Amino acid sequence: MAEQSSECLFCKIVYGVIPAKRVFEDELSLAFADINPQAPTHLLIIPKEHLTSLAHAAKDHAALLGHLVFVATELARSYGLEKGYRVVVNTGDDGGQTVQHLHAHLLGGRAMKWPPG
Ligand code: IMP
Repeated sequence: MAEQSSECLFCKIVYGVIPAKRVFEDELSLAFADINPQAPTHLLIIPKEHLTSLAHAAKDHAALLGHLVFVATELARSYGLEKGYRVVVNTGDDGGQTVQHLHAHLLGGRAMKWPPG
């Protein structure tokens, strides 16, 4: 079993303590619908292992980080986001991170603006 933090919201989703609309899962990762969607498709892709943020990643996490991005790519394909999409990893306070378990947002189904707020 992956390492978890008993107080972490997304660890609780991994272990089914808190419900979520799960859309994909494998040994390393879980993807589920964001509870407050900011686009027609808004999924969160997380490692099952508790990792607080990108800022907490070590060299050993490199393959896991690549895996999360690849899962986002596969989900974008399966959700038909052929016009494009955005993968975002908010990190730390200035990055706008509100849940302290690393997650990649997959947003699609509408035209995105740049720069983000
Ligand atoms: P952050 O601001 O990048 O940390 O994103 C956290 C995301 O988690 C936000 O988009 C929230 O809407 C989402 N979120 C918070 N709680 C839940 C939940 O229980 N289920 C699904 N998504 C959640």
